[in-house]
Amino acid sequence: MKILHLAAECYPAAKAGGLGDVVGALPKYLVKAGHQVRVMIPAYRLPWMAQQEFEHRWSGLVRLGAVKVPVHLVQLKESTLGFDFWMVDVPGLFDRPGIYADPQSGYGYADETERYLVFQQAILQYLRETGDHPDLIHCHDHHTGLVPFMLKHCPEYRSLQHIPSVFTIHNGQYHGAFSWSKAWMLPWYDADANGLLDWAGLINPLACAIKCCWKLSTVSPGYLLELLQSSNGLEWLMRNELPKSSGILNGIDTEVWNPFTDPLITARMEEDIARFKQENKMVLAQRFNIRDNMPLITFIGRLVAEKGADLLPGAIERFLHEGGQASFVVLGTGDPSLKDAFMQMKHHFVSWFDTSLEYNETLSHQLYAGSDFLVMPSRVEPCGLNQLYAFRYGTVPIVRSTGGLADSVKDISTPEGNGIRFDHFNTEALSASFHRAVALYHHPGAMDQLRERNMQLDHSWENAAQNYLNLYSSIAH
Ligand code: ADP
Repeated sequence: MKILHLAAECYPAAKAGGLGDVVGALPKYLVKAGHQVRVMIPAYRLPWMAQQEFEHRWSGLVRLGAVKVPVHLVQLKESTLGFDFWMVDVPGLFDRPGIYADPQSGYGYADETERYLVFQQAILQYLRETGDHPDLIHCHDHHTGLVPFMLKHCPEYRSLQHIPSVFTIHNGQYHGAFSWSKAWMLPWYDADANGLLDWAGLINPLACAIKCCWKLSTVSPGYLLELLQSSNGLEWLMRNELPKSSGILNGIDTEVWNPFTDPLITARMEEDIARFKQENKMVLAQRFNIRDNMPLITFIGRLVAEKGADLLPGAIERFLHEGGQASFVVLGTGDPSLKDAFMQMKHHFVSWFDTSLEYNETLSHQLYAGSDFLVMPSRVEPCGLNQLYAFRYGTVPIVRSTGGLADSVKDISTPEGNGIRFDHFNTEALSASFHRAVALYHHPGAMDQLRERNMQLDHSWENAAQNYLNLYSSIAH
């Protein structure tokens, strides 16, 4: 099958979170299963991209109202990623140092609508003009959500209407909605298709994708059920489209996330897990002001409401005041007021709490390797990859029971237990989980046994890729 993936991120070219991980891994495993896979993302000006060589493939003009925007499609020369990698270069729109936001100021780019409208159309125009048709287009998140609509309802792309589309929701919090006053930016579309674009009085790319795609998937079965109950106003729509929907739990790229070979960690795993953990923890103790003689509990992630990072200051403070004996590290970037709160904690709880308020891929690997516990107090978690990376590096996850976390983490009080779970989103419940973690850490043999078992858990992409292939073959050949 010839499969085309369209997304805003793809690791290692561009990653802001789990979307990048998935789009950088799933295609690789689809290729291994014998398929021809191409990924297209925008050509941002990011460090990885500057170090590669690209070949020009096609140039054209995308109409944005009265303006014609020049676009260029380029392909990575050496296929080092395990799949064909293409970028859409749009000077003036994507040639910036950030993916969604300016890295200096932290502010999101205000022309998101224009950027992704041009991106999506550049690809459809290329397919139409060159006749280079895939057997299926797999779109990820709202940035590519108008493609299923354009394929079906825009006269310009009529020759592509037979191509089946799959749409995956990685994050249903963001809809990419924009005002009808910007409708002039859209390509011509059938007059009776207005209703497909609209949701609650706005043009809503996420809602439109849910309506128009041939098959819909979410990144975990639990998240699909949650979206039926709570999806920022799309509940009714999700229920309506349930017959074409399925939840497929993400895998992890076991070639990138491999404690035996990971070039981003200092001490690689050999035979002795305890030694692997201890040596990497010592590296962290040099980097952070923490106590190396007690359990280390780490948070890695975007500092936003979904991830529940705002629960950490209160819960950590409570735990330490109750006499809890553990050190904490936070690696993340996002909400400025949360960043301030963590900076303040660093000064209040010297040697108990430290933080690095940045996006740092290398440091994240070192933290998975050297921490004892990884905390994820998420309000919402579509799948969550951090807990799966934690398993792989012998780090025990502490998670709130929601979405993909509830699908992948079982509490240690059960026979298949692999982590610590709590239900209620409050500081008391999280602090109690920290106390449970410390007790587990000191329980003779229990921690070693759990680490060993967790490191053998199979969350590889092979299984998940097969689930996607089953989905594809239900609509394409
Ligand atoms: P989401 O996509 O909602 O942010 P996921 O759990 O699916 O959450 O994926 C998060 C990915 O982003 C993981 O690979 C995690 O290690 C990475 N990540 C998040 N924040 C940072 C950061 N500040 N530095 C490095 N990696 C990060």
